[in-house]
Amino acid sequence: MAETSTQSGGRPSLPMAGVPQPKREEVLNLPRVHISSHPVMAHKLTALRDKNTQPPEFYRLVKEIGALLAYEATESLSLEPSPIETPMGPMLGQRLAGGIGVTPILRAGLGLAEAFREVIPDIQVWHLGLRRDENTLQAMEYYNQLPHKVDLQVAYAIDPMLATGGSAIDAINILKRRGIPRISYVCIIAAPYGLLKLSQTHPDIEIYLGALDESLNDRGYILPGLGDAGDRQFGTL
Ligand code: URA
Repeated sequence: MAETSTQSGGRPSLPMAGVPQPKREEVLNLPRVHISSHPVMAHKLTALRDKNTQPPEFYRLVKEIGALLAYEATESLSLEPSPIETPMGPMLGQRLAGGIGVTPILRAGLGLAEAFREVIPDIQVWHLGLRRDENTLQAMEYYNQLPHKVDLQVAYAIDPMLATGGSAIDAINILKRRGIPRISYVCIIAAPYGLLKLSQTHPDIEIYLGALDESLNDRGYILPGLGDAGDRQFGTL
């Protein structure tokens, strides 16, 4: 997320103060953006957002919501025929064609990555740690476990919160440079500002959201949001 930078006098500046933001209605119908309308998602999101939800329960909910998002985001994956024998006889089944990768943006993306692994156990997990240089606004990779050999049909970049869009855009840039044919972005909650930026910068990717919220506050936190998704998952409040 956008971090607090420091003005010349040493006082912290507020990165989103005075920055114009699109309204929710303006980004509701962007192409390739899928906002979950599942009632179970809405139910679990309410528990996740509640400030009284403690880290163990919060982490469990992130994984449950991640599983729902994984089902939605994998709806159009390619299949290939797979002949098998059931106890009753032969049949032509289907299996997912080609490798599937998930790139959790550290550290908050780790819970969602677990969820994707539970839905698709043989998924490849490509960890990516990004830190933004506040002067140049360039992404600095501090951790990268992306393999050199790419044999995926799709990679999912995942992060619970799409706030200003900076890390999401940088992660997709990195995945595109690896030559991955198809990339999707998955998050639990997005702000209109970050969603518009991501969609305009990478109009060719699919974007899956659990919910689209109202705005960012001056520090770049999503409103109403849920606070800091990393701290709430890992108990570092
Ligand atoms: N990252 C978070 O964890 N929460 C926000 O509201 C924005 C970015």
